[in-house]
Amino acid sequence: MPTLTEPAREIPIVTEADVVVCGGGPGGFPAAIAAARHGAKTVLIERYGFLGGLATAGLVAPILGHTASESHMPIVAGILREITERMHALGCAPSYEESLQEWGIRFDAEALKIVLDEMCAEAGVQVMLHTFICGVIKEGAHIKAVVVENKSGRQAVVGKVFIDATGDADIAFRAGARTTHGRAFDGKGESMGSFFHLAGFETPSPERAAQLVEMIQREMEDGRFHFYNPYFLGKNTFHQDHTSANMTRFSGDGDSAQDMTRAEMTVRRDVWELVRYLRANVPGFENVYVQQSSPQVGPRESRQIVGPYALTGDDIHLGRKHPDAIARGSWWIDIHCPLGNTYPVHLCTVECPMGADCPYWAAEHGQMRSKAELYPPQGDWYDIPYRCLLSVDVPNLLASGRCISATHEGMAGARVMGTCIAIGQAAGTAAALAVRAGLLPAQVDVAQLQALLRKDGQLV
Ligand SMILES: Cc1cc2nc3c(=O)[nH]c(=O)nc-3n(C[C@H](O)[C@H](O)[C@H](O)COP(=O)(O)OP(=O)(O)OC[C@H]3O[C@@H](n4cnc5c(N)ncnc54)[C@H](O)[C@@H]3O)c2cc1C
Repeated sequence: MPTLTEPAREIPIVTEADVVVCGGGPGGFPAAIAAARHGAKTVLIERYGFLGGLATAGLVAPILGHTASESHMPIVAGILREITERMHALGCAPSYEESLQEWGIRFDAEALKIVLDEMCAEAGVQVMLHTFICGVIKEGAHIKAVVVENKSGRQAVVGKVFIDATGDADIAFRAGARTTHGRAFDGKGESMGSFFHLAGFETPSPERAAQLVEMIQREMEDGRFHFYNPYFLGKNTFHQDHTSANMTRFSGDGDSAQDMTRAEMTVRRDVWELVRYLRANVPGFENVYVQQSSPQVGPRESRQIVGPYALTGDDIHLGRKHPDAIARGSWWIDIHCPLGNTYPVHLCTVECPMGADCPYWAAEHGQMRSKAELYPPQGDWYDIPYRCLLSVDVPNLLASGRCISATHEGMAGARVMGTCIAIGQAAGTAAALAVRAGLLPAQVDVAQLQALLRKDGQLV
């Protein structure tokens, strides 16, 4: 590719903080709230006009990973409990106790936006919306500032500890830290997808709904639709006057603008293909319409930091505990095939053309995992070690959410939002402890961190 030299220039330091949280998603907002509550001057930088990451910008719901595997026992509380209760008070989520009886926490994304605004304001977080982080200024191995672009121009945000919660490890990558991307053997990450809401149709009876789902399944098998499941009547959010389907898929790189452009247009086309089909073929759906599509297609997996430890698939299925545990996860090794062939990788209702010959299992695991090996033990959880949040290259950087250090299999479990929120609370608390003691994140006393998390209602 031809190149140009960008001239060097002076940029204003728009703010100086103790803790700079980069990205306002499930890995970022709890980090900012926790850091500020523990006395750190905290800035939260987010490219959109609202917080929530894929929970709002991806319309992703419900929040998974809040209970132990196939159990009602809570494993994530703390800030997750607080946001659930606040959304419940707005009539937009079940209470936290009620949610323990469900497989995930259903919620309304609009309620989450206002709850996060309020919680950040109360904690004293300085929020910068509509601000894209486009660079990093280093001093030796340390990050001195992130460079941001917004309508006010190009600016620097100086900090002591930086938390990379961009989902795509943008900060680590731009700081020159080592990162991984997807499967070790070919670098491909899980396929992407986005949620969409349909309204304007007559709700079918359960029997009729089952027939319609079968009909879409048949059309998928005949190649009309490119969805990974046929559940177009899915209702994943709190309000039930519209659908919220998680069925689209796109194989590509979440950190490539070219792939993201194709992803948006392909998924939009697929959703409208469904709407046109329903209008033309299904009585009661003549006026069905797309009530809402998500502002962005969501990558399930892209770049991740390299830490002193990488969470593995064995950690998940053995329910492994670690002395430096800072969060708990229970979601299984839930791999959406990077090639978009099938879901889950070998348990698909639509036969995977590769079957047991899938090169991934041969290359990275020796053989295909049995179904039992994909899940943590029933009623149990796996720990997220603090080492997964540390960068081996940049001493004042922590990662949070879906860009922590993990293998392809490890991330397939740790990526769900309940786990990301627990990781975020730990990252923010650790950053505040580090700043307060004048230490680097790797020097934080993990026992003290664990004690503080427990005091703040987290389950570690
Ligand atoms: C299709 C799909 C279905 C899913 N289903 C579920 C589900 O049912 N339940 C569940 O719990 N999880 C689900 N997940 C997983 C979950 O949504 C994500 O793993 C989780 O949101 C990750 O949180 P995060 O904060 O690490 O990243 P994100 O949610 O991606 O948040 C990153 C934030 O950083 C911001 N950002 C990124 N780069 C920059 C930059 N350079 N400058 C400024 N801001 C930046 C983004 O705008 C965003 O707000 C699903 C994901 C997908 C894609």
